Amino acid sequence: SVPLSFFGGIGAASKIGVLVKGSNYLEALADMETIVFDKTGTLTKGEFKVTKIFPEEKQDELLKLAYLAEKYSDHPIAQSIRDAYLERTGEKAEEKVEDAKEISGFGIQAVYRGKELLAGNEKLMKKFGIVCEQYEGAGTVVQIAWDGAFLGTIVISDTIKEGSKEAIRRLKQSGVKKTVMLTGDKKTAGETVARELGIDTVYTELLPGDKVEKVESLLEELKRGTSKEEKRAKLAFVGDGINDAPVLGRADVGIAMGSMGSDAAIEAADVVLMDDHTEKIAQVVGIARKTLRIVK
Ligand code: ADP
Ligand code: MG
Repeated sequence: SVPLSFFGGIGAASKIGVLVKGSNYLEALADMETIVFDKTGTLTKGEFKVTKIFPEEKQDELLKLAYLAEKYSDHPIAQSIRDAYLERTGEKAEEKVEDAKEISGFGIQAVYRGKELLAGNEKLMKKFGIVCEQYEGAGTVVQIAWDGAFLGTIVISDTIKEGSKEAIRRLKQSGVKKTVMLTGDKKTAGETVARELGIDTVYTELLPGDKVEKVESLLEELKRGTSKEEKRAKLAFVGDGINDAPVLGRADVGIAMGSMGSDAAIEAADVVLMDDHTEKIAQVVGIARKTLRIVK
């Protein structure tokens, strides 16, 4: 049977708004050495805002085409483009686009005036053989192409959550050996966020499937050791849920955001942060270690 103090530990976690779905996860948290974060919506707010559009003389046209392409997408990037268009023009664009398809991790492919319209990242442009201008600054990029020609760039910025830096600092302080960030976003955008937060390792331009593979190889690396302690070492993954359910399932401990996470992610997670505060993870590690000391 499970020692009573495990319930004490789970109770203490729930008092600070963290749901731990079993005593085995408390045990795993006490041995956590690697923690892997998804970027958007987990370390950042996931609320994008259009900050730049260029070339300048094409701003209206670019924003309209992006609006039309993103009309039916529920990606936070799409919402920010629609907001920017409405703010600028005061009205919805009524022109028709056909066959709008969302390509996960790339962007949108649609048909406008009988010609192919593309709105997405540089990978999307490459996929369709469009040569575009690379944007090297911070922020997420939506490149626009129509009828086989590159037209311009919309830059969108997300902001880091207030508590993210503190969360990383406390985890490192509590003895977590490796902090990692995964993102589908481009290199410069991902690296800027990681540097700002003091995260050790960052992998960018990942498709949802690549994230599972990355976690698998990090697990392999972690468990390569031969000593008893090394063999016990655990990996946690923290995500907000959009496309993250398979990654949550693959980690030793899958941690999901309670309020902004998707139902699928909350279901797939082993630990749920009810108020989305990643700072609480270090606290739960503390509770887990205290609990384990009592049990052992
Ligand atoms: P993350 O890994 O940061 O959670 P996603 O996997 O949702 O991000 O998306 C990865 C990248 O794919 C985005 O940074 C963006 O470049 C591109 N992308 C995805 N959906 C869209 C869209 N609807 N419009 C434009 N770009 C998109
Ligand atoms: Mg995501």
